[in-house]
Amino acid sequence: MTNRVALIVGHNSSDQGAVNYLGQSEWDFNSGIAQATMQLLVESGVQAEVFFRNPNKSYTGQVNQIIDEVTSFGADFSVELHFNSYNSSARGSEVLIPESGTGLDNKFADILTDKLEEEFGIIQRRDDGVYEIDESAAGGMMVYGLYNAGVINGLVEPCFGERSPESEAFFPCPNTYSRILTNSIIEGFELEVDLIEPEMPEAPTCPDNDLLLEMKGDALASMNAIRDISDNFINKWSQE
Ligand SMILES: [Zn+2]
Repeated sequence: MTNRVALIVGHNSSDQGAVNYLGQSEWDFNSGIAQATMQLLVESGVQAEVFFRNPNKSYTGQVNQIIDEVTSFGADFSVELHFNSYNSSARGSEVLIPESGTGLDNKFADILTDKLEEEFGIIQRRDDGVYEIDESAAGGMMVYGLYNAGVINGLVEPCFGERSPESEAFFPCPNTYSRILTNSIIEGFELEVDLIEPEMPEAPTCPDNDLLLEMKGDALASMNAIRDISDNFINKWSQE
């Protein structure tokens, strides 16, 4: 049995979607994630390919072209990559799937959002990170279009782009996210290949939670030190 997986980069090269606190657009960030995930899948023996939306078409035209290309590739499964828009209060991850899902789309969504919470501390929105959308909802045309064409799929919103403890854990670690995504595709869609092993931390280091707390402690300590120095300076200066 062969399994073919399509990795669809959300938005397009001229309308790149939301921008995260590092200044990366959805299209930019997810182009890298899609390529890395494709490589990991191919190394695992899964046939995978990356698909980009055509910036010169209407939204409906872009969706239809993707559905044509993905079905021509013979994909059984697909994942569309996004991240959520800036919002001062919202947090968490979710995967959008059709209401009439097959069970495997639900399983993929559940597993991916579990792994995002375990690895990065990202809370799971909705029902355990699974968001069954209407066809009329944002993203519905793509999700239902693919589903109706026989491609089991999910639209991934792993994190919000604004600076938060979640995004600061997530965005500096694209290799870790690619690994999590690959294993969620393998496990969730029940592909008959082995899961991939975790990699060594990526440069400039993908901090784990302890290290993150340590760094925050260090930053606080150096801020206090700077304040002490400037207090001393002001005290001396004002005495003279
Ligand atoms: Zn998006």
